[in-house]
Amino acid sequence: MTLVGFVGLGNMGGPMSANLARAGHDLLTFDIVDAATRAPVGARVAASVAEVAAQAEPIFLSLPDGAASLAVCRDVANAPGRNVRAVVDLSTIGIEAAREAAALLATAGVTYIDAPVSGGVGGARSATLAAMISGDTEAIARIDPLLAPMAANRFVVGSEPGQGQAMKLLNNFLSSTALAATSEAIRFGERRGLDLATMLDVLNASSGRNSATADKYPRGVLTGTFDLGFTARLMAKDVTLYRAAAEESGAPTAMAEAVAALWQAMASAMPSADFSRMYDFVEQEPGVIPPAG
Ligand code: NAD
Repeated sequence: MTLVGFVGLGNMGGPMSANLARAGHDLLTFDIVDAATRAPVGARVAASVAEVAAQAEPIFLSLPDGAASLAVCRDVANAPGRNVRAVVDLSTIGIEAAREAAALLATAGVTYIDAPVSGGVGGARSATLAAMISGDTEAIARIDPLLAPMAANRFVVGSEPGQGQAMKLLNNFLSSTALAATSEAIRFGERRGLDLATMLDVLNASSGRNSATADKYPRGVLTGTFDLGFTARLMAKDVTLYRAAAEESGAPTAMAEAVAALWQAMASAMPSADFSRMYDFVEQEPGVIPPAG
């Protein structure tokens, strides 16, 4: 039995690592905040990333952004007495950060596998996440049995780190657009005297159906709970990364400009709010929304 590392025990990393532990794997975990209370039952807690790198193989990361992933990868690369041979990054960090992390780890002989996930906290709990994997084919085959208890839907989308991120960014551009556009449409319907629950029923039986009408609105807005477990700040990060990457690739960005500006404005106004609060945010004066930066 090998010891598996897991760094980042937040909204996603908490339930994902719990699923790995439930599948019978020994875990060595680390988080900069409250690791002891966030670690799954039965998992050990390390005092540092270096300790995880010295004992575990492979190491999974579920971190907020590129800066955090790069900081952890740097600690892995510099760890004395490394046992780790592969780092599997489940975070959404963008293409450039994934390439940088891969290059950094390669200098230490450690393979980086890009494996961002989709499906939210619900998908993390039920292990039904989609993982968008890219990197070395043999390394991916070795870690697949460990990804399986966390992500029922695993897609190898390329052989280069960063291609998984490209797939994840375009997915989140679509889901963030659906949530923003649905919020505007619902606010219009309410002004015309239509009932929220009825509108969702109609949309979900009609051509306007999307991931916001089918899932996010029924779970987070209709219930009034606004607790889907993904913050406005993280959504703005993803759409901003998408817009920049699309622009750099010479792909069209007319929609991405508008959607990124809206999410950036929401992240400035209410960074820690659940992303389902877009329902409230679209009510703000359009004048407060600056062009995408
Ligand atoms: P989160 O903020 O809840 O969790 C991140 C965790 O990383 C926190 O516990 C934090 O303390 C820890 N952390 C930060 N820097 C660290 C460091 N240097 N060393 C060790 N630990 C560190 O975020 P989340 O919602 O769990 O998202 C994690 C990643 O998954 C993000 O990249 C996000 O974009 C992506 N994601 C989130 C969702 C979702 O619905 N929440 C869905 C798909 C993908």
